[in-house]
Amino acid sequence: MRIGVLALQGGFIEHIRMLRSLQVDSFEIRKKEDLQTAIDGLILPGGESTVIGKLLKELDLFDPLKEQIQNGLPTFGTCAGMILLAKKIVGTNTTYFGAIDIDVKRNAYGRQLGSFLTEATFKGIGVIPMTFIRAPYIEQAAPEVEILSEVGGHIVAARQNNILATSYHPELTTDNRVHRYFIEQVNHRLHL
Ligand code: GLN
Repeated sequence: MRIGVLALQGGFIEHIRMLRSLQVDSFEIRKKEDLQTAIDGLILPGGESTVIGKLLKELDLFDPLKEQIQNGLPTFGTCAGMILLAKKIVGTNTTYFGAIDIDVKRNAYGRQLGSFLTEATFKGIGVIPMTFIRAPYIEQAAPEVEILSEVGGHIVAARQNNILATSYHPELTTDNRVHRYFIEQVNHRLHL
C-alpha cells in the first residue's frame, strides 16, 4: 500500500511520520510527474487552503487529483485539507474538490485565539486528543454524511464514501488511531 501525501505547503511531514508509525509507505506529491506513481490513498494536510488550492491549479495537479478522488480514491483531509474537500466554503463561491457534502466555515474559532487542544470522541475509536489550529468547523452536513466528532456543539470530523475530513490535526499528536482508521478504509477498498 502506498499513500500519497500532498506536499505543496503546510504540515505534510507529520502525516508521513504518522504513516511510518503504522508501517505504511508514503509518497510526496509535489508536481505533475508524481502522479505517474500509483497511490492507494491520498492525504491533504493542513496549511493555508487558499495557498494549497492556488498551487494545485498552477502546478496542474488539481484536475487529475480531482478525477482520482471522484473515482473513489480514499482521501483524508485535515484542517485546510478538509476545506479543500468540502462542497461549500461558507461566505464564498470558491470550492476546490467538492467531494464531501459539508459546508465548512474557515477560521471558525477566530483568527488569533483560534488554536486550542482538547479531547473528544471520534466515533468508533473513542476519546482522542484533538489539536485545532485556526481551524474550520462544519456548519452543515448532508444526511448522507456520517458525523464522527463534535466539539462544543460543532461538527469537527465527518466521512462520506471515500472521503474523511477532520477540522483538527491528529497528525500533531502521538495517537495514530485516526490514521489507522483511514488506512483501514484504504485496505477495505484494496480488497473489494
Ligand atoms: N486557516 C486555514 C485555512 O483556512 C486552515 C488552518 C490549518 O490548516 N491549520 O485554510
